[in-house]
Amino acid sequence: FQLPEVKNEPVRSYAPGTPERVALKQKLVELNQGGLDLPMIIGGKEVRTGNLKDIRPPHNHRHLLGHYHQGDKTHVQMAIDAALKAKPTWEAMQWESRAAIFLKAAELIAGPYRYEFNAVTMIGQSKNAYQSEIDAVCELIDFYRYNVKNMDTIYRMQPNSSPGIWNRMVWRPLEGFIFALTPFNFTSIAGNLPGAPALMGNTVVWKPSKTAIYSAHLIMKVLQEAGLPEGVINLVYADGRDAADVIFNHRDFAGLHFTGSTGVFNSMWRTIAGNMSKYKSYPRIVGETGGKDYVFADETADPKQVATALTRGAFEYQGQKCSAASRAYIPITLWEDVKRFVSDDLSKIKIGVPEDFSNFVNAVIDEDSFDKLAKAIDDAKASPDAEIVCGGTYDKSEGYFIHPTIILAKKPDYITMKEELFGPILTVYLYDPADLDKTLDILDTTTDYALTGAIFSADRANIEKMTARLTHTAGNFYINDKPTGAVVDQQPFGGGRGSGTNDKAGSVFNLLRWVSPQCIKETF
Ligand code: GLU
Repeated sequence: FQLPEVKNEPVRSYAPGTPERVALKQKLVELNQGGLDLPMIIGGKEVRTGNLKDIRPPHNHRHLLGHYHQGDKTHVQMAIDAALKAKPTWEAMQWESRAAIFLKAAELIAGPYRYEFNAVTMIGQSKNAYQSEIDAVCELIDFYRYNVKNMDTIYRMQPNSSPGIWNRMVWRPLEGFIFALTPFNFTSIAGNLPGAPALMGNTVVWKPSKTAIYSAHLIMKVLQEAGLPEGVINLVYADGRDAADVIFNHRDFAGLHFTGSTGVFNSMWRTIAGNMSKYKSYPRIVGETGGKDYVFADETADPKQVATALTRGAFEYQGQKCSAASRAYIPITLWEDVKRFVSDDLSKIKIGVPEDFSNFVNAVIDEDSFDKLAKAIDDAKASPDAEIVCGGTYDKSEGYFIHPTIILAKKPDYITMKEELFGPILTVYLYDPADLDKTLDILDTTTDYALTGAIFSADRANIEKMTARLTHTAGNFYINDKPTGAVVDQQPFGGGRGSGTNDKAGSVFNLLRWVSPQCIKETF
């Protein structure tokens, strides 16, 4: 039989005067009223501990939306027990049923829950309506639908047989449970990291970022409504160390599905390696980590196109995408034009709460992030090796607002050319066009990250040369476009080096990590 045809979910614009804008605005008013009391969901049951933690919008931190119930090691253990209990039935369920649950979840998000997914992400993670639509609605739907299509592709991959012999591949899930540790910056990723292994027949302990509990809870509710059996995904709000202590010491720990910082990933990898003798199988470790993503223009590049890539690539969602452009290499001869266009773009950008749809930039996620970014700006102001050319201001009186900032680095290894900041700060290094080759070498060796990168050029020979020279610097490489905004099934996403295991979210490569195939040879 054929699966339903899959297409990328069309993005709604929420343009002024549209009914969708009115509906979303109403949803925002409704959800901003607060009164949240969000339990964990373990073994299909709501678990309330009474250890209440505040939920506040990053752009309006005086507004208390409500609370979530924080768990501890006992709840992590409960989640593991529930996952292991649910495993045999889930694994034995017909794969069409597993697929149908995720297809139904996608339908629920596309239809009745669309505005709610958008609004919780706007309120809880401070994303503007358009960015929330492409993340929490379209990309999450795409992940669920394309995962089903890719699962079908995998299950159809079968070995050859010969007369009297039937060889077949059984696409078994892993033995044990999967730990999904999800970030705040994409609701879609938060839904995909537990969702992909579950679809392939695994059961999951899911710990979301403490700054994105609101949307995580909604994802879980919708998966339940779509028919996800109890215990298949268990949502626990625990301290990272508590979760790690219990999970990484458990014999049945079978895999980690992670998006977050390189530092956390490295430390988990070390712990897992140290505990290897405790596990039944070698755990699968899949992670998408940090980035120091670049824009590199040559002399022939169109300065307006470069400027747009910088404004959108660096400042959409306040630069809190792993893929965000955070360093740029611009020929000295092009800079005046690029700077004029960028300044022009930035002068039109409005900053403020996402509920006002005309704001392009909203708040960064929390006070820790704000303080780190503000310090980077202050350090640049004080450094002889840097100059602030745009922005450079910030304000946390009502929300964690960092104004889009461009630092001009006088040295190519200035700290913000190397280290990930995860915020709306772009550092630009100007190079002499005669030094193009040398500058490509610098780009390659300045950081250990290799997630995304973009080159701009009108010269085909240079495009070829730069593409070849930069091959290991980015898992997602863009020619004459910004380095962000990968679409499921169009630009499978992930990077190498310090940016992760490059298993390409939303593709067969990722799903293959959640199966342990068994080859059966039957002789007649
Ligand atoms: N897939 C997103 C993009 O292409 C980035 C995901 C992330 O930030 O982790 O912009």
